[in-house]
Amino acid sequence: MPLGSGVLKGLKTVLMVGRRKPATVMYPEEVRDIAYRFRGQVGMRRDEITGGLTCVGCGLCETACPNDVIRVDTHENTDGTRFVDRYLFDVGRCVFCYFCIEACPVDALQRTHNFHLVTEDRRDLVIDGHKMIDIFENDQSYREEEQQNIGPGATITNWFERG
Ligand code: SF4
Ligand code: SF4
Repeated sequence: MPLGSGVLKGLKTVLMVGRRKPATVMYPEEVRDIAYRFRGQVGMRRDEITGGLTCVGCGLCETACPNDVIRVDTHENTDGTRFVDRYLFDVGRCVFCYFCIEACPVDALQRTHNFHLVTEDRRDLVIDGHKMIDIFENDQSYREEEQQNIGPGATITNWFERG
């Protein structure tokens, strides 16, 4: 092997790699497209009549969750109906299995594409039901894809069944 050929070979490799399109993006200024089935943070649907939480406080999501993420505090009204005092969700403990979404009988819990969870304080990751509504309503990428792919009225069942 001629003297210096190794250096030239190395230089050629460096030049070739340097001309490649970067595989990274300048997050958070730039965000890559997210796959439709990407599992982001769990959001909540707004009740169309009351404008508040759709949650009826049954506690099924709390029971279904394998990681103790959800806490639902309720009280019973004099007419026997249940009122949700507080719905708390610790995103820092969530493993995005979506068991809670499947368990919810009124489709209050909804999937989203949101993954922007960076914080310096884990306590910021404990959010309430109203914040979950904001997250669901601000998740435009998921909503646009939903319209294009399976149309309005999509349910968790046809989302899982979709190929
Ligand atoms: S997605 Fe899974 S881990 Fe997260 S809250 Fe729902 S059931 Fe719990
Ligand atoms: S399963 Fe649905 S309705 Fe029941 S407590 Fe959870 S979010 Fe509320």
